[in-house]
Amino acid sequence: YGTMGGQCGDTGVIRCGDGEFVVQDTIHLAGGKIGHIGRMTSGMIKLGDKVELSVNPAGRADTCKNHSATHLLQKALRTVLGSHVEQAGSYVDAHRLRFDFSHFSAMTPEELAKVEQIVNDEINAHLPVRTSVMTLEEAKKTGAMALFGEKYGDSVRVVQMGDFSTELCGGTHVANTGDIAVFKILSESGVAAGVRRIEALTGPGVFAYYKELEDRLSEAAKIVKATPANLAEKLTHLMAEVKQLSSENESLKSKAARESLGNVMDQVKEIKGVKLLAAKADGADMNGLRDLGDQLKEKLGEGVVVLASEKDGKVNLVAMATDSAMAQGAHAGNLIKGIAALVGGGGGGRPNMAQAGGKNPAGIPQAIAEVEKVLEGQLK
Ligand SMILES: [Zn+2]
Repeated sequence: YGTMGGQCGDTGVIRCGDGEFVVQDTIHLAGGKIGHIGRMTSGMIKLGDKVELSVNPAGRADTCKNHSATHLLQKALRTVLGSHVEQAGSYVDAHRLRFDFSHFSAMTPEELAKVEQIVNDEINAHLPVRTSVMTLEEAKKTGAMALFGEKYGDSVRVVQMGDFSTELCGGTHVANTGDIAVFKILSESGVAAGVRRIEALTGPGVFAYYKELEDRLSEAAKIVKATPANLAEKLTHLMAEVKQLSSENESLKSKAARESLGNVMDQVKEIKGVKLLAAKADGADMNGLRDLGDQLKEKLGEGVVVLASEKDGKVNLVAMATDSAMAQGAHAGNLIKGIAALVGGGGGGRPNMAQAGGKNPAGIPQAIAEVEKVLEGQLK
């Protein structure tokens, strides 16, 4: 069987005495001949020799299963999605099958499950596969599905799988749908406007697929000291633990940052009657700094809070202003803008709340000192 209609051709061996030619591919040539592509692995073959050709039986059998499944798949798709479904291309080899068809939207998981179920039901029904050669006219009377735009000769091959599917097809098929054993859809995707693609496995391919999934599942379970059976339960516990630990970590960080400030309320100054607290809190990230800023703003009652921290070689800045401070002209966004350059950064924000990042921790003391001046310029 030479590659045709999306079905991969046979592979095998051509032998003659001590001559051996390994066939890696088979193609159709002009004049109805099949070209055998491959290489001599031993001896010689010369013109006039009698040779024996043998097909790689396992490869052909698996290809047959995959190809035969496309017949069942096409019918199942028409049953589930409607008669607008037509084959738009297919590729089949010993390992997998690919089937392109006309349809205008992505299939739902329910539709895919239904299609897979129908195909497996017809496999389990052990339908006999009958191939007959007849004229195109006769074939049309059987209701055979033919490819639109395909040229057919005077006589055509009609492949019937029980009463379920009738198609014109020149490919190789199993003798009984039961030989396909099992069918599994791997994916459904769009390949062009109005054309969808299903990739699927049959027979041994399905078992290999599940074996691999099983191995990966066992490996994942082992990592978290669980079994595949209680993996979900174990992961649920672990995720809850991670959540609790990270919230504990957040509150410890904010506590550490608060402690690094010392008795911070001693550092409150008054600028034109507005209370200002500008200080450095070490080790806090942006979230921690904002939390700390909120706490200090509450302690302060009314006024402006500006905090700077150094974390992993970078600078975080936040500025906050209460309502009465804003009424007197304080603007957190402009305040940040006015000092961010001193720590090698930039940023801004709203009048009540602003933040910035920077790359120069050495500039933090100067930036904090500058806050006073900038705020003084803002206040009426
Ligand atoms: Zn076929």
